[in-house]
Amino acid sequence: GTAVIWFRDDLRLADNPALAAAAASGRRVLALYVLDEDSPGVRALGGAALWWLAGSLRALKAELGQHGVPLVLRRGEAGRIVPDVARAAGADLVAFNWRAGKAEQAVDEAVARHLSAAGVTVERTLGHLLHAPGSVRGTGGGLPRTFSSFMRAAVKGRDIGRTLPVPRLNGAAPLPCDDLEEWALEPTQPDWAGGLRTTWHPGEAAARARLEAFLADGLAGYGEGRDRPDQTHVSRLSPYLRFGEISPRQVLLAALAAGDAGTVPAKDVQKFEAELYWREFSHHLLFAVPDLARRNLQASFDAFPWRECPGDLKKWQKGRTGYPIVDAGMRQLWQTGWMHNRVRMIVASFLCKHLLLPWQDGELWFWDTLVDADLANNAASWQWVAGSGADAAPYFRIFNPVLQGEKFDPEGTYVRTYVPELKDVPARLIHQPWSAPLELTRYGVRLGRDYPEPMVEHGAARDRALRAFEHTRKDL
Ligand code: FAD
Repeated sequence: GTAVIWFRDDLRLADNPALAAAAASGRRVLALYVLDEDSPGVRALGGAALWWLAGSLRALKAELGQHGVPLVLRRGEAGRIVPDVARAAGADLVAFNWRAGKAEQAVDEAVARHLSAAGVTVERTLGHLLHAPGSVRGTGGGLPRTFSSFMRAAVKGRDIGRTLPVPRLNGAAPLPCDDLEEWALEPTQPDWAGGLRTTWHPGEAAARARLEAFLADGLAGYGEGRDRPDQTHVSRLSPYLRFGEISPRQVLLAALAAGDAGTVPAKDVQKFEAELYWREFSHHLLFAVPDLARRNLQASFDAFPWRECPGDLKKWQKGRTGYPIVDAGMRQLWQTGWMHNRVRMIVASFLCKHLLLPWQDGELWFWDTLVDADLANNAASWQWVAGSGADAAPYFRIFNPVLQGEKFDPEGTYVRTYVPELKDVPARLIHQPWSAPLELTRYGVRLGRDYPEPMVEHGAARDRALRAFEHTRKDL
């Protein structure tokens, strides 16, 4: 018989429960990937994510090829294509890993029903998360509402098992397949992906190498270093985790092992583990609240007086706000498809609070520009920063971009990397160039010409945000 492994956000061979199930059945294996932009409610991937996907599928095809397993690529509605391919392959087993999004689950349900009705066995396994959504319950029986109670409940008596090796595979005969190059997932005119190509190598082997490098020189010191965009203490595993080129279990067990071996201090391992659990929390939230990317978790925010100002949104998107730490972040995002977490928080706060623009606008921009754009993590994080989310930062906590810059990029190295027009400006001025416009000209910068004046004044913007948020509170 033949088994079809339907790959989705799990583009790896190792520790892939669905692939392991297909292999363990003793059947010949055919791999399938469907680029589904047509099923109702399924959100089409953004530009940067499509770029990543292209590289990742190329890597997957090569890996599978070495094991003699053909990868069939199809584009269209998965609900129609998966049963078609199963029939054409004469498959009596289809295996796939579970997904968190509501629309995706509806597709999976329909596929499973269709296949079962045709007498095909369906294996659905958990490969994208450490804990199955719905399985982590608080004292009230539902999803815990705060991150700390979620994590406590999740780790209590947990059994996340062991990582699965790459299974022994027996390839099935190939089927007609789309040409990945014809899908044209990568930009050509204009080709904006140059910075992405020099920054990233998608694929399972690269994911493993990234993890090894992080264990060797990022994890020790992560607890403090993770807040410093000018340092290299974070893992940069997010796009690999997003597309499943590495599993959260592989990452967590490797970090715990480094802690056990004594090569990394326990507090750094704990902090890193907590970040992996933020990812779990977001996905469990998305499962509980399917429209997390659009609807405020706190209904009091529904009447929030957001502004509408396309011009201001554009300045933020282009990294021309006049606040160097904000502009560096937005340009890092545009150039490399990724932004450091501390800076994501700063730029998100700036959009929602200094500019009073809706968090949904920021969520959409990130969706299109991040290589790690993830429905759950992106929406949950935006709501957290805006103050409308679960366990959100209180509304009155408004980041001061100058102080944030001075604290987390004290030498200005990060700003100089992404805002080259300020490269000669000394550290004491670099986070507030407007404070000494005359002196600035000595470093070749005329404010308002070479680098923008601040688009809003911090104190006034802060007061305006507080008044707006106060309005929300009255509705509670
Ligand atoms: P590390 O610090 O090395 O953390 C390891 C892993 O833990 C990450 O790869 C990620 O999978 C997970 N993780 C870390 N922080 C968080 C967090 N706060 N929430 C959820 N998971 C986390 N992350 C995404 O993966 N996709 C997104 O679309 C996304 N959008 C964001 C939007 C905003 C406004 C903010 C503030 C954060 C967002 N994050 C998102 C979370 C976080 O910024 C990134 O996961 C992190 O910067 C990725 O870098 P890293 O892999 O080096 O992280």
